[in-house]
Amino acid sequence: MSLIVQKFGGSSVKDTEHLMNVARIVTDTYKKGNDVVVVVSAQGDTTDDLIAKYKEIDSNPSERERDMLLAAGEQISISLLAMAIQSLGYPAVSLLGWQAGFSTTSSHTRARIKKVDTTRLKNEIARKNIVVVAGFQGMDKYDDLTTLGRGGSDTSAVAIAAAMGADLCQIFTDVEGVFTADPRKVPNAHKLDEISYGEMLELASLGAQVLNNRSVELAKKYNIELEVLSSLTNKPGTIVKEKTKMEKFLISGIAKDDDIVRISVTNIPDEPGLAFKLFSVLSAKGINVDIILQSIGRDKSKDISFTINKDNAETAMALLEKNFVSRYDDVKISMNDNVAKISIVGSGMESHAGVATDMFEALFDANINIHMISTSEIKISVLIRKEYADKAISVLHDKFFPAE
Ligand code: ADP
Ligand code: ASP
Ligand code: MG
Repeated sequence: MSLIVQKFGGSSVKDTEHLMNVARIVTDTYKKGNDVVVVVSAQGDTTDDLIAKYKEIDSNPSERERDMLLAAGEQISISLLAMAIQSLGYPAVSLLGWQAGFSTTSSHTRARIKKVDTTRLKNEIARKNIVVVAGFQGMDKYDDLTTLGRGGSDTSAVAIAAAMGADLCQIFTDVEGVFTADPRKVPNAHKLDEISYGEMLELASLGAQVLNNRSVELAKKYNIELEVLSSLTNKPGTIVKEKTKMEKFLISGIAKDDDIVRISVTNIPDEPGLAFKLFSVLSAKGINVDIILQSIGRDKSKDISFTINKDNAETAMALLEKNFVSRYDDVKISMNDNVAKISIVGSGMESHAGVATDMFEALFDANINIHMISTSEIKISVLIRKEYADKAISVLHDKFFPAE
């Protein structure tokens, strides 16, 4: 007998028909003699709809109240799924994040899991219940509800698998696994049988929404093998694990992130310490900076451009204006949101020269101009204009995954 954690995303539980389908998958697993913990997200677009509702009142309401509102989405899906399982004649109990033992930090809307106290989960399993847990949420030390950030249910599932020592953690979604590019955008993308934690972490962090990046971080840390698979077709998915067998392709995937903006600060005095001053304004407020480009100093001045997440754009501009730009005579700041970051990821590039050249050649052939470049051992990212993003993905896919 095994303990299996199964997570179902919003599209897998979007209506009654889909909920009943999930109830059948879960009970089939249970019938085989396994203990089952199910983690679910809010139904369909519920979380987006709740966000739209609060925005009608205030575009930037208190983060505590946002969490209170958003956590409601998962409460609906867990109770309905428990009813669906019971309607098939099996015992089930639904638990909110705090009931399932999730303690988190107090950073509302982006809380981190501190601990999962598994006492209640274990008791319910001992009673032979199928346990249905609300993903994406927990409780802080003040007994306030918290949420883990968008896409956080994946992280809830992996955290339970780690805390319970599960034998298998399956992430069911609306595609058949992890593909070489978003299969909804690139029709000839193909499914990977397996991918390493490192590559998956890069892809997830660089915009491939299929797994939340923190869930991959956690899976790597606790060495939990994940299977990403479809809730609609009964086919093996993609295994995410430490080491994978040699792939025949140099890269494993291509990702796009267009939820970013580029900020340019120009005419900065060319003296030591200015980059430090500029970026410490942002890091003091927990704003992460991504690709950074600094020009060579000329006429005693230099320019620095960098990208950040769109959600932080307004705050960052205001902070920099107040605490940096206004302190120097000629410094100017501007923001451009017509940008997208396109990345290729693969551990194969570590040992092969020329991957970057191939990437730049494909973009050049398509007449796509590159604004910024950033690299790590297993990824290369470029910043381009947003309207060329889909074209870029398509030409890069043809270059690195030519039709056989
Ligand atoms: P869920 O609601 O199940 O959490 P998400 O919408 O968060 O599902 O993630 C699944 C989506 O991720 C897919 O529908 C697909 O469009 C997108 N996606 C982006 N990149 C990839 C990729 N490389 N492989 C698979 N899916 C991807
Ligand atoms: N419902 C949350 C969201 O839409 C969590 C998740 O789907 O994982 O972001
Ligand atoms: Mg998701």
